[in-house]
Amino acid sequence: SIEIPKDHPRYQSLINREKIIDGMHSKVVAPAGLIAHGRGEAFDYLMGEKTLPCARRAIRQAAYAFLTAKHPVISVNGNVAALCPELLVKLSEISSAPLEINLFYREQGREEAIEKVLREHGAKNILGTAGRTTASIPELSSNRRHVDPDGILISDCVFVPLEDGDRTEALVRMGKTVITVDLNPLSRTARMASISITDNIIRALPLLIEDIKNNKNNPKALSEDYDNKEILSQAVRAIAEYLTDRAKNKDF
Ligand code: ATP
Ligand code: MG
Repeated sequence: SIEIPKDHPRYQSLINREKIIDGMHSKVVAPAGLIAHGRGEAFDYLMGEKTLPCARRAIRQAAYAFLTAKHPVISVNGNVAALCPELLVKLSEISSAPLEINLFYREQGREEAIEKVLREHGAKNILGTAGRTTASIPELSSNRRHVDPDGILISDCVFVPLEDGDRTEALVRMGKTVITVDLNPLSRTARMASISITDNIIRALPLLIEDIKNNKNNPKALSEDYDNKEILSQAVRAIAEYLTDRAKNKDF
């Protein structure tokens, strides 16, 4: 992979891009994952590549949901495994929620490649690996309907970052609390989920891990009135205001 100078103005963005490209070469990322990443980058630009106040609130609510769930599960796809495997493992440890590999594109060798990345970063308890996904989510026709009978199937709270709209909807219909991280506040996933964090997964995960760590003994301290539609509305407004300010100030 190429050398990116540390003082490059878009250093972090370029690093993430390299991770996705490397992930594609090692089969962790599906070709369509590159398109999804580009879509995410575009939305990130439109919010100034920073965590919005409404995303910060959604992260607190997500921590509360993790801490009060009986069977929380962390769903892992190729993009997330390529971008931040170390954060996924940390989140799993701090929340005692298992990682479950769940793929839309089940190309030969992908599951194994993702499992390898997670293990290299210290993951021990991994669900959804080859031969384990014998259960299925009702009313869903895509490959993502196949789930682990000890994981997503029996979970009451499922974390599905960078998820597809159809599956989010199906999981909500099964009565689960569905938490997502999705830079696009208008995506079907963002609108269907119980808790939508409109932020880059790279920025959101460290904050979520901190909130869970700091509130383990008193999750109630995190809880507040929560309305996902209101949070999404704040995200869209924040983007509009950011753009209006940039335009007004001729900040180019
Ligand atoms: P939906 O099916 O929910 O309507 P979609 O079909 O546009 O959405 P998918 O490919 O199904 O998109 O899901 C990927 C989502 O993840 C996109 O909304 C994209 O903006 C978002 N995304 C991509 N990269 C990141 C990232 N690093 N952090 C957070 N979100 C991201
Ligand atoms: Mg989709």
